[in-house]
Amino acid sequence: MTTTNSAATAFSGTGTVLNPASGEVAGEVRWTDPSDVQSIATGLRAAQREWERRGAKGRAKALARYAVWLGDNREEIEKLLIAETGKSSTDAAQEVPLLIMILSYVIKVMDKAVAPEIRPASLPLMRVKKIAIHYRPRPVVGVIAPWNYPVANALMDAIGALAAGCAVLLKPSEQTPLTAELLRHGWQQSGGPDVFAVVQGAREVAEAVIDNADYVQFTGSTATGRKVAERAAQRLVPVSLELGGKDPMIVCEDADIDLAAHAAVWGAMFNAGQTCVSVERVYVLESVYDKFVAAVVRDVEALQMGAGEGKHFGALISDQQLAITERHVKEAVAAGARALTGGRRAAGPGSFYEPTVLVDVDHSMSCMTEETFGPTLPIMKVASVEEAIRLANDSVYGLSASVFSRDVSRAKDIALQLDCGAVNVNDVISNLMCTSAPMGGWKTSGIGARFGGEDGIRKFCRQETVVAPRTNLGAGGNFYNNSLKTLARTNRMVTRMALARPRRTAK
Ligand code: NAD
Repeated sequence: MTTTNSAATAFSGTGTVLNPASGEVAGEVRWTDPSDVQSIATGLRAAQREWERRGAKGRAKALARYAVWLGDNREEIEKLLIAETGKSSTDAAQEVPLLIMILSYVIKVMDKAVAPEIRPASLPLMRVKKIAIHYRPRPVVGVIAPWNYPVANALMDAIGALAAGCAVLLKPSEQTPLTAELLRHGWQQSGGPDVFAVVQGAREVAEAVIDNADYVQFTGSTATGRKVAERAAQRLVPVSLELGGKDPMIVCEDADIDLAAHAAVWGAMFNAGQTCVSVERVYVLESVYDKFVAAVVRDVEALQMGAGEGKHFGALISDQQLAITERHVKEAVAAGARALTGGRRAAGPGSFYEPTVLVDVDHSMSCMTEETFGPTLPIMKVASVEEAIRLANDSVYGLSASVFSRDVSRAKDIALQLDCGAVNVNDVISNLMCTSAPMGGWKTSGIGARFGGEDGIRKFCRQETVVAPRTNLGAGGNFYNNSLKTLARTNRMVTRMALARPRRTAK
């Protein structure tokens, strides 16, 4: 038996999941033997054929029934989520609605997303052909998920894959295995076919998922993402990697300072800072720096920390996560930074860290360069917007960013100078609510993107081109039954036709 939320090393038999806020037992999990993953994938592969043949409209019905199940069972899911993560109810309450929103959107666009496309012929000679691009699902999509949003991260990509007609093999984090079982149970209870399976374990099970999947959708740290890409490359299986971040916020001198402070504090402390797109560092123009810092401290001092009801944010997932946060703050303070609030782990049981505002920080400190994933908010004074942009881009990460200015067109101009996958103007994290737009990281924050409207479904498909005669009349090709003279004439004609446009354009 093993316990999660600790430095567990063996994942066989059963395990006990502990609530990191209280140490109480949240539930039991049965670990999957890595050698069983192949037969589970084989079962999914068999069931997937019928799922694909249902067509988008048929699959939409199953996804709609699942959305209704999620809505009806929201309370039960959130209770379990709080028990296995130590989240506050406020934070836990974000996950199911996000999934229902994604399901609702996917149901709307999935038919169009996977409908065959008819493409025009590139050469007049080929106008006798009908060229169709079909979107055929990759049979088994392996989804490997992290612990920070055990419900949302388990399903937000799985929904697109199921909509595409794929089967999904989900491996949740070994630290938060319980809610995934409930989500899988809900799929079955709402009448979903056997195209969604959950396997439980750590690295070995994840590797078995990669070895048996036709596409890997990974969300987690950059270090693990690299290993996933390397392993998938052995079988030339494509991957989509949603990895770590160190998201900057820029506060211009003309910003609404109260709004910027509210957003910074929420963006940094939400889910105890354990959000890939959390605000991890702030650059403030010197003329408004003191006002901004005072507003941030005021907001942070009003926060209530604790799991469950009536609290703003809860526990860190584990002692390891707490140790990273502690190290970043300690190193910063040792190098001359000041903690205006918090600066230490909370007294009492559970892995809680006090919300911490750090000032007098710079890029020699780990709190400004490494992903903290804790309730900290380091703030740096800058002399100009150019300096803020340079520092914001001075990172190995490039997930997302935010810019605050009353001049929205100026903020948009700054946004296009930032090297990252998404920028929110006068807001934080809001791009996650825009499922019609891609959410993907640049640099070491990822490869590919989640969401993105129809692309978020199509990415789980392979394109299959079918070229067929428009009519039976004149069907037949330029084969050896033609004389060599005819073949040569045809080649000359094709070359002449293909050269017509370059000749016109080159003039
Ligand atoms: P992690 O990389 O430690 O683990 C993620 C998953 O990978 C887990 O299920 C784990 O069991 C599995 N895993 C472990 N070793 C593996 C291996 N060798 N091969 C394949 N899989 C393996 O990440 P975590 O600590 O669970 O999650 C936190 C990280 O996730 C943070 O860096 C955060 O920024 C990132 N994250 C990114 C996004 C995004 O959209 N970009 C969203 C949420 C979280």
